[in-house]
Amino acid sequence: MIYLDHAATAPVPRAVADAMIEVLTERYGNPSSQYPFGAEMKKRVEDWRRAVAALLDCPAEGLHFTSCGTEGDNWALRAAVWQNRHVGNHIVTTAVEHSAVLECCKWLEREGCEVTYLAPDQNGSLTAEQVLEAVRPDTAAVSVMLVNNELGTVYPVADIARGLAARNPKTLLHTDAVQGLGTFSARALGADFVTVSAHKIGGPKGVGALYIGPRVRNPRPLLAGGGQERGLRSGTEATAQIAGFARAAELRLENRERNRAHLEALHAVALEKMLAIPDMVCVGAGTAPHILPLSLAGWPAGNIVNDLGSQGICISAGSACHQGKPSHVVAALKLPKRVAAGVIRLSFGPGTTEADIDACAQALRRHRDTRMPML
Ligand code: PLP
Repeated sequence: MIYLDHAATAPVPRAVADAMIEVLTERYGNPSSQYPFGAEMKKRVEDWRRAVAALLDCPAEGLHFTSCGTEGDNWALRAAVWQNRHVGNHIVTTAVEHSAVLECCKWLEREGCEVTYLAPDQNGSLTAEQVLEAVRPDTAAVSVMLVNNELGTVYPVADIARGLAARNPKTLLHTDAVQGLGTFSARALGADFVTVSAHKIGGPKGVGALYIGPRVRNPRPLLAGGGQERGLRSGTEATAQIAGFARAAELRLENRERNRAHLEALHAVALEKMLAIPDMVCVGAGTAPHILPLSLAGWPAGNIVNDLGSQGICISAGSACHQGKPSHVVAALKLPKRVAAGVIRLSFGPGTTEADIDACAQALRRHRDTRMPML
């Protein structure tokens, strides 16, 4: 199998699985139990928190484990709106956020919030000025992702944070950094909330974290319950998942420079090889090296993904093809119809090789040469 869909989820290295198995089978105590077998796990959760915080470059005490990136996004938005309920009920976000943010915004609209959805240009880009101009005296929250999961566009979160201090110092800033984990410093970003998820960096599915900065006073929990995670995120700590997240974070940190160089080189090679295929075009102007959005203009993405899938090559149509319609991200770019219909996403990880790219390029060329394009 050739796996070129790391932005969807990444393979779990053996060392991560081993760390989890140890916890599942030998160290299964509940961190809330009083006897040493449990209490030991409380300490270990704090070690694991420090390991993940080191990858984010944030104070460990501000990092809270969640069940996934989706939970972190929902929690952050709701906590920001709650803290600023006397400031106003306006939210600024972008039309290209992950559905975890967009759907939460829709719920918040039903609950009385007003949401401004900023559209990017045809390249998927948005400036900090655009975001700041949309901020009003009653803006409770701004939510702008760090790296777009379909386009690889990196948004200017640090500039937005700096600008917000002057534009409306009460407004809280959230960034969904799920696709950027391992590439940024939360301290340098300056956002009040930073969402991350383990399974995009070789950790297990079902665990994430939300960094909450010092400007958030008494963050409102999403769940009522036993008061784990310093009273902010109830639910017995998913110790095996957290252990796996921490081990994956350590591996990412150790290999950060090597991974980045590898991904940048792969991205350049892949772009060259893919653009040599007739009718293949690049989509957007993203710079994240692990994501390459393309369009085989005129050939529907769903068919391409199925055809390559049947040959054991895993790529994605972005989140791109929901019942034949382009994704909300592709739709926001307002691309010509034939280009929008053909948008696919290749995404790479530390284990991706040039041979994987070659096999994918050959399969895409064959698809183009043997299948009829749409009218
Ligand atoms: N945000 C972004 C940008 C993502 O790519 C994803 C996952 O696809 C999520 C949020 C949701 O993360 P999780 O799958 O952990 O809920």
